[in-house]
Amino acid sequence: MDPQRDQDDWALETLAIRAGHHRTGEQEHGEPIFPTSSFVYGSAAEAARKFNGDEPGNVYSRFTNPTVQTFERRLAVMERGERCVATSSGMAAILATALALLQAGDEIVASRSLFGSTVSLFDKYLGRLGIVTRYVELSDLDAWEAAITPATRLLFAETPSNPLSEVVDIAALAEIAHRHDAWLAIDNCFLTPALQRPLDLGADLVIHSATKYLDGQGRAVGGAVVGPHELLDEVFGVVRTCGPCLSPFNAWIFTKGLETLGLRMRAHCENAQRLAEWLTAHPAVKRVHYSGLADHPQHALAKRQQAGFGAVLGFEVVGEREGAWRVIDATRLLSITGNLGDVKSTITHPATTTHGRLSDDQKVAAGIGEGLIRVAVGLEAIADIRADLARGLDSLA
Ligand SMILES: *Cc1c(COP(=O)(O)O)cnc(C)c1O
Repeated sequence: MDPQRDQDDWALETLAIRAGHHRTGEQEHGEPIFPTSSFVYGSAAEAARKFNGDEPGNVYSRFTNPTVQTFERRLAVMERGERCVATSSGMAAILATALALLQAGDEIVASRSLFGSTVSLFDKYLGRLGIVTRYVELSDLDAWEAAITPATRLLFAETPSNPLSEVVDIAALAEIAHRHDAWLAIDNCFLTPALQRPLDLGADLVIHSATKYLDGQGRAVGGAVVGPHELLDEVFGVVRTCGPCLSPFNAWIFTKGLETLGLRMRAHCENAQRLAEWLTAHPAVKRVHYSGLADHPQHALAKRQQAGFGAVLGFEVVGEREGAWRVIDATRLLSITGNLGDVKSTITHPATTTHGRLSDDQKVAAGIGEGLIRVAVGLEAIADIRADLARGLDSLA
């Protein structure tokens, strides 16, 4: 009886619940937490073998921890990667990837509409190390190819983008990357393996902020990188030496979060689709950005590439900033916060918060207007979410 043997045939829902836990001698049913910094040996000789890597086994929790490994194994098989390395945050996952794969003189080509801290990491901190990043329009494959130079080692994209739900063809982008001897990394935070598996489409690495949907209930900060052994062994080296490792407590939270990921993502998508359709019909709404709508420029691509359209949507209201702020301030249920990936719905005004540091020209280029509102749709009853937004929207119409 080897439960791992069946794993190749299991569906995502089954892997999410069953994969990764190797039961200990206590025969526990639930996944245990191992809150220990170090591990002991039966003899001096065993310690020597484990320290030298001649014998597998735990040494110190900055290197490996059984609870963290359960999360890593589970996420790895869900993303269909050979190996996963968990990190202390999503940003730590991106940093560890960059330190593992790049050196001074190398270049990154990245989509323009990235998470704000990712842009700062690339421009300020990797820039200091002599690594240059060029930014291109996410969906414009010709622009990606044109930005590649002989020094380009990594292509990095978030798809769908936040908050406008722009989508790139991952398979086509992987083909471009590989033709130029570069790797493609996809930040899969918004869709998760429940809705999109970038490695199956040809990407080399998947990056996660586990803080978002993998946890799904806003409890802990963490991250992960998934991909082939060849690259992940390098990422592991960075994490074990430089230290951005995940705590066992947080790993346990994410492991339990994964168990309901498929169910939650389907429910998130259903709420988001219904909200998007309702917003489209509201007289105070000028435009809704959601790839689940038939008029979205990449609707067909999103439908083909994704198993769902995600739960982050943007919409433009009449009245510019004043109108947007009025809608936001009229909410009583939705949380006014930049966080997403939570059962609780959240609402933000990107132009003055998440994208507030962009210049006016950059905001126009990125499509971040003053009337734009972002909602990360949670799992409250859709009627209550609509009613909460209707209060402000009806006052504008
Ligand atoms: C939140 C987020 C990150 C960063 O993750 P942290 O866990 O906050 O460090 C990276 N990428 C995307 C798309 C995110 O939403």
